Amino acid sequence: MNGSYKIGRLFGIPVLIHFSFLIVIPLLAWIIGIQIALTTTTIQYIFQVPIDTTLITAGFMPWILGTIVALGLFLGVLVHEIAHCIVARKKGVRIQSITLLMFGGVSRMEEEGVPDPKVELPMALVGPFTSLLFGLVCAGLVYLVPGMTPYPAIAGILIFIFGYVAVLNILLFAFNLIPAFPMDGGRVLRAALAQRMPVHKATRIAANIGKGFAIIFGIIGLLFFNPFLILIALFVYIGAGSEATMDQFTYLLHNVTAESTMSSPVTSVTPALSLSKVAEMMLSTKHLGFPVVEHDKLVGMITLVDVNRISPADREAKQVRDIMTRDPVTLPPSAPVMDALRIMSARNIGRIPIAQDGRIIGIVTRSDILKVAELKKA
Ligand SMILES: [Zn+2]
Repeated sequence: MNGSYKIGRLFGIPVLIHFSFLIVIPLLAWIIGIQIALTTTTIQYIFQVPIDTTLITAGFMPWILGTIVALGLFLGVLVHEIAHCIVARKKGVRIQSITLLMFGGVSRMEEEGVPDPKVELPMALVGPFTSLLFGLVCAGLVYLVPGMTPYPAIAGILIFIFGYVAVLNILLFAFNLIPAFPMDGGRVLRAALAQRMPVHKATRIAANIGKGFAIIFGIIGLLFFNPFLILIALFVYIGAGSEATMDQFTYLLHNVTAESTMSSPVTSVTPALSLSKVAEMMLSTKHLGFPVVEHDKLVGMITLVDVNRISPADREAKQVRDIMTRDPVTLPPSAPVMDALRIMSARNIGRIPIAQDGRIIGIVTRSDILKVAELKKA
């Protein structure tokens, strides 16, 4: 997902954090800090446990507690995602990465596209139920704290933290079960629908319901000026759209190979060619990128974006080899064209050379693929 930063690895799976979550942690800490008295009363009411506020309201304590609770939410989301991953692993699905979002996370599966409903159902359900369990354990701790410490002021702080984290995780549980694709509840809905119809149709229905929920969240968020809800609405809307699109491509292109999509023969350039010549070639051929070939072997790729980084005045003196991308990804002619599309969107590139025995025999571009998908629709 765009806008994510890698923070570490768990069971060998890269864990990324989305920038929205990085904003939400300090924001939540601040909101908790300024409303500490109101929040304490609410927690006292929910759990029906008296809370000593002597230390809670002292000095910088509201902000320290806000930060601890916000990190508690982070931990809750992490545990939720790990649960998805453990079930995925048991079902033989490989997870490529985990992205932590404010309302849960996204576990990116290795073979994206259409998952088996029998795998998706338990995988989607385990996340929210882990959040529920985590919340209930924290709620249980609320009642154990008074017996653990003789100091009511310290007990007050612990009850506040456990109580708040319990509430957040139970909200996470409830929220994720809303059937708004791509949230867990939406995945459960898709898996259920997929037992009665083709998966791409199930995805389209689940995605449309997800978009409907997103619009409702957005309207409520704007009416009550709730920035969290507006952010979630945007996420669900964009997520539902992109998942449905990718699914439709998978359906339309499921038996199309790279060979039948590629353009051939390929215009290539040599590493020693000057950039001004390359720019001229782009203009005359209308191609936005060329493979770089030396002694019949592919050695790199050069695109308009690369050329544009060099000012026109310097293009005469520079050669292709100075700025080309080395060791480009290639695919064999027999590869499914969906692989090409996935690599292009993951690496944000527009074309992939098709190679056989180390020699380039064609090139597949994003627009070639979109054209073929359009024709298959007809
Ligand atoms: Zn989840």
